[in-house]
Amino acid sequence: MTNPSLFVERRLERILASVSKPGRYVGGEFNAVYKDPAGVEVRVALAFPDAYEIGMSNLALAILYDVLNRRGDTYAERVYAPWPDAERALRDACVPLFSLETRTPVRDFDIVGFSLAFELGYTNVLNMLDLAGLPLRSSDRDERHPLVIAGGHCTVNPEPMAPFLDAFVIGDGEEVIGEIVEAYKHNRHASRAALLRLLAAIPGVYVPGLYRCRADESVEPVDDSAPRTIERRLAASLADMPFPIAPVVPVVEAVHDRISVEVLRGCTRGCRFCQAGMITRPVRERSAETVLRLCDELVRSTGHEEISLVSLSTSDHSEIEPLVHDLIERYRPQGIGVALPSLRADRDCVELARQISTVRKAGLTFAPEAGSQRLRDVINKGVTEEDLMGAAESAFKNGWRRIKLYFMIGLPTEIDEDVVAIGALAHRVVLHGRRMGVRDAQVTVSVAGFVPKPHTPFQWRAQDTPEELLRKQRLLKASMRDRSVQLRFHNPLVSHVEGVLARGGRSVARAIEYCWRLGGSFDAWDDRFSYDRWMTAFELAQVNPAWVANRVRGYHEALPWDHIHCGIHRGYLRAEDKRAEAGIRTEDCRIGRCTMCQACDRWLVERDALRAASRNTGDRQ
Ligand code: SF4
Repeated sequence: MTNPSLFVERRLERILASVSKPGRYVGGEFNAVYKDPAGVEVRVALAFPDAYEIGMSNLALAILYDVLNRRGDTYAERVYAPWPDAERALRDACVPLFSLETRTPVRDFDIVGFSLAFELGYTNVLNMLDLAGLPLRSSDRDERHPLVIAGGHCTVNPEPMAPFLDAFVIGDGEEVIGEIVEAYKHNRHASRAALLRLLAAIPGVYVPGLYRCRADESVEPVDDSAPRTIERRLAASLADMPFPIAPVVPVVEAVHDRISVEVLRGCTRGCRFCQAGMITRPVRERSAETVLRLCDELVRSTGHEEISLVSLSTSDHSEIEPLVHDLIERYRPQGIGVALPSLRADRDCVELARQISTVRKAGLTFAPEAGSQRLRDVINKGVTEEDLMGAAESAFKNGWRRIKLYFMIGLPTEIDEDVVAIGALAHRVVLHGRRMGVRDAQVTVSVAGFVPKPHTPFQWRAQDTPEELLRKQRLLKASMRDRSVQLRFHNPLVSHVEGVLARGGRSVARAIEYCWRLGGSFDAWDDRFSYDRWMTAFELAQVNPAWVANRVRGYHEALPWDHIHCGIHRGYLRAEDKRAEAGIRTEDCRIGRCTMCQACDRWLVERDALRAASRNTGDRQ
């Protein structure tokens, strides 16, 4: 019988000549890991459901690749979604989906691990399973097939993808992946059912096949080995966590062609719309010393000319100023620049950006998120107009001519005045620049439609319909008179589908499958997204998208993601939603007191202190 890798290799040569960006499929990159597959016990295919250049910029996958390949008994390889032209060519030539490193068909791996970073990648997961020659549904796979698992932020509501995956990892993947490999290694000859039960016993692992979905879309276990609630896994500190010091250097230009060092994980600023912030609490930090050491190694191992300090809010790092200063001075002679992708809108951050721009000038982007102070208080975005104007003034003074501002429309309690306030705020920024003598001051305003996400204080809120978002877009456009402000809108139809996929229950899985069968893939790409196809799929699956996305849910209503616990107490989310309604802000617990979200143990300490204080007061009375 022909060696499957050789078969792929031979046919690939012909295929590559006919596809766009053939570099996406050849592998052989600098720092790619090569091992003898016969010399390991467990083989893992790390799969990213989008194009090579998007997946190569995904830090989570790079971390898992490193963690797994540090093990002597495991070999992790990579696989990305082939672009439609390559998919056609692969299907025509009967070549199954294969790994980049050894051209091994994905179906021959022990474990296939998908990264679910965004909902619009779901149809690509199905397409990749099909291209691999694997049955789409977990219930149709058996001992002959690899375990198909998934991690990433979308797993906090796993139900829309539940029928297609054998297990989900909830929380920090690098904490769990080793335990999954061990369970597989020691039980590879066990029955599929027994193996899945073993996985379900690992904290942070959800095995959907051991649960049933009730009529109200809530989920309950049907097997003794399955816990009622799946607690997310949390890396206690970043200090001891391994970090890839020799990541693979892409051969095709990636979205982020640079060194990425994670300096913080988690965010406690408490923006009420932000799922990433809520599900990754508490904040964990890498020391400046460690970051500098990592940067030294990464510069040596990759040859990249830019270092990006990544996190949800990099300027919140406790040593950010000396760290940026040290990095700039250390790498200036080599022409290596520093980038901070997430900057607060204030003068201090612009000062950081100014220092950075002495090596390499980059654009300046701030995210006030809402146009009026009232609405910024509702969403708990701690940015005032004074902060923003201070940041803009500092930017114009330091030579920037154009500033980008990010906003959302469709936020809870929003009225038309809040929408119009977006344009007015941008206009005031331009005027401020002109008054400072910057005649060509310009502002680009990006406006996205708000999607209320699971595990946030707004998880019960209704999403605006696409028609309402469109009306608000028109209202904002009509209110704009200033040619120095450019408006860019996110497609409200895309936001609507994203809302259904993010908030749906297990019934939405049928719609995802229909959409894929109707030709859906690469839905995150504007020219590939088809609203009509999604609407047909929802209809065929008997899913009412408005019922899923555009309806207020009651506090006591069962939610499809209630069995997943991401650290924050449900009562806290409810209290935050009520504070939002009243326009009351909640302070960042890193700066002030613990606000008792229960994501870390500090609330226990504070609760005990409060109890002791009240006992003492009682004693004195
Ligand atoms: S429990 Fe308290 S200190 Fe810990 S993340 Fe929540 S609010 Fe912050």
